[in-house]
Amino acid sequence: MNIATCGPIPKADKYAWPGAYPIMYLMNDGELLCADCVNDPSNPVHFGGDNDGWRIESVYVHYEGGPEFCAHCGDTTESAYGRLEDES
Ligand SMILES: [Zn+2]
Repeated sequence: MNIATCGPIPKADKYAWPGAYPIMYLMNDGELLCADCVNDPSNPVHFGGDNDGWRIESVYVHYEGGPEFCAHCGDTTESAYGRLEDES
């Protein structure tokens, strides 16, 4: 996946392929966003440029562990393999 592309984002993937692993997007302020929020044109998400909290730093593949929460809409994204045994 090429995340170094500049300009408008065509469509952010919700799942990594192959494997259909759930993916989220890490913003420059350390918050995670779901693909729906990245795709929402009313959100000023962008690659590169201003350090404004909407800059995508990397794609986060949520393999295992508890659900992650989208910092914008609060939606939960379940991990591909669920919680780890030693996690309570
Ligand atoms: Zn969201």
